[in-house]
Amino acid sequence: MPIVKSQLRTRDGRQIEVDAEIKRYGGGARLLRGGATVLAFFVLGALFIPVPGVHLVLPWFLPLLGLGIGAYIARVSLSVGEVKGECPDCDKAMQIEKSGSVAEDEALWLRCPHCQVPMELMKGEGAAPR
Ligand SMILES: [Zn+2]
Repeated sequence: MPIVKSQLRTRDGRQIEVDAEIKRYGGGARLLRGGATVLAFFVLGALFIPVPGVHLVLPWFLPLLGLGIGAYIARVSLSVGEVKGECPDCDKAMQIEKSGSVAEDEALWLRCPHCQVPMELMKGEGAAPR
């Protein structure tokens, strides 16, 4: 994953520079991931059509669930890996693995592994969509 200079900001406004691994997904890749998820749930739902009992529920419930999950996955445009920097609260060096995946306009909150202070990741620019 490419490393992008980003900022972490605490609730009271203190801000620090961190190195964050950020991978951005382009529109095509997002649609593909979302579409594949929807398709997988449709197939899964179809598998239950011959099963007595659950055939009343799962064949329509699973595709609906898949639509919801697929729409969410298609919205997620970046995933954040390791974040490295110094905590603005306890001044200890911190290293946060596997921070999470969010949409570009969504806030990503991380916690210092030492003092648990919550910080919002201000995602830096620079990792171009693929
Ligand atoms: Zn801390």
